[in-house]
Formats: sequence, structure tokens, C-alpha cells
Amino acid sequence: MNIEKALKNAKAILENGGSKSPCLDSEILMSKTLESKREYILLNLKKNLEKKKLNYFEDLISQRLKGKPIAYLTEKKEFWKYEFIIKKNILIPRPDTETLIEEVFKLTKNKSNLRILDIGVGSGCILLSILKEKKNFHGIGVDISKKCISLCKTNAQKLGLTNRVKFFQYDIDNFSNGKYDLIISNPPYIKKHCLKYLEKDVIGFEPKLALNGGLDGLSEIRKIVLKSSELIKKKGKFVLEINFDQRKEVKNLLERNGFYINKIVQDLAKNDRCVVSTKI
Ligand code: GLN
Repeated sequence: MNIEKALKNAKAILENGGSKSPCLDSEILMSKTLESKREYILLNLKKNLEKKKLNYFEDLISQRLKGKPIAYLTEKKEFWKYEFIIKKNILIPRPDTETLIEEVFKLTKNKSNLRILDIGVGSGCILLSILKEKKNFHGIGVDISKKCISLCKTNAQKLGLTNRVKFFQYDIDNFSNGKYDLIISNPPYIKKHCLKYLEKDVIGFEPKLALNGGLDGLSEIRKIVLKSSELIKKKGKFVLEINFDQRKEVKNLLERNGFYINKIVQDLAKNDRCVVSTKI
């Protein structure tokens, strides 16, 4: 069977299964199969696909049909300007989170030698994107998940950042190491009883540990705000991702813990997403 026919079959299968992007998904999974760029696929549609490759491709398509996210199938995801390795049990970086990166660059425009702490560092996408562009910043990433820490190290290596970043497996409650100029965090913030309403690709495959914010969605945010007020330098900046409906509670929480709210920024979908505050 040639590439074109295999793609056509796959698109039909995904389309019938209710996929929102059957063409794109099929092409990405074909490029994973052939370990080549999408452009190569599109220029070589008439090439024959060996049986072994075809079987591999069909297996990827059937996993996608069951809802497995593309990033888990290709084991990578673009975030900001870089490509991150992504594995099972690691939250897939979201475009919404790039709002935090933009704000951090605005805050640190003329700054040098800052020490950054990322709480709940996940794949490392936030911290490493910042360090990649700010050549004299240093960072520490903390996560409760051992898998995250190990993946962060791999991603740091891939981006050539190992000499400016360290990662530690800790529950943030037990972490007390130094003082920071900038703290960033994208914590789990979905209310426990709302998890089931997330898209099936998300709730069926992504780690609940990275999503579940407890009964009121604020359990982890509370811990992180409290701890950050201890770990941050005076006048240090705290940049936190929140859910669209948490603006008021998080603002109160921060103010009670000695932070001044600079701004609350919306993501591209116009949802409140990022709180920028300063320790006073
Ligand atoms: N924004 C993510 C989602 O809705 C949740 C990420 C998080 O809890 N930090 O899937």
C-alpha cells in the first residue's frame, strides 16, 4: 500500500471516530512512522509503505482513535519556541501556559542573574523556555513526581541547559532551599468533581496528579502561595497559572500572604489565566 492510501484510510477511521483533526493527526502519525518531516510525507505520497511500517502506523491510528493524545504517541510537544520530550504520566504543555512565559519576559526585560523556582515543574517547559532565552538566569524545578524530575533532566540536556538548572523531587511543603527572585507555577487547579467534565483525551490519559486541585480546586494553590511567600525574596515576583474562575479567591489568598497583585492576564481564549504579583 502506498502512503497516500494508508493516509486516506486512517483519515476515514479517525473521522468516523469523531476526531476533530483527522487529516493533521494522520499526517503527524505517518511522519512519526517514517521518522521524517510532514513535508517529506506530502511530497512522497506514491511511495510504497512496507508491511512493518504499515502495521506500526495502523497501531498508532488505533491508539489515537481511543483518544490517546498525539503528544503521547509522538513523545514530543512544541511549547514556546522549543520542542520538549513528553512521556506518559506527564502533563502535556498547553498553549495557554505560554501566557506565563510572555509575562515573565516582560517582567525580566532588563534583569540579569535572577534565581528562579518552578513549583510543580512537570515536563520543565516553563522553566527551561525561560532559561533558554535568559542566558545568565539560574533555575530550580521541584515536582512531587519522580517521572517529571527524570524527564526534566532529559529536556534540560536536550536544550543544553544542564549547567544552569537543578531539579528535585519534593512535595513543596517539605522544600526549603534558598530564596528566589522569581517563582513560577502551573499547579493542578481543576475541582475534583469537575475532572470528569474535561475532554476525554485529557481525563482518559493525562495525569490526575497534575490536574486535580481538590474539592474547591484551590488545595494546591493554597500550599504553593503559602510556601512561595517563604521562599521568595522581598520585591520578588510570583507568576501563577489559575483556572478561568479563580481570580477572586486567588487574589484574596495572595493578598493575605503578603503579595501585591500587579495584574491578572487573560489567555488567547480570553480566560483569566495568569496572576502576576510582587512580594511586599
Ligand atoms: N489547563 C489544563 C486543562 O484544563 C489544566 C492544567 C492544570 O491543572 N494546571 O486541561
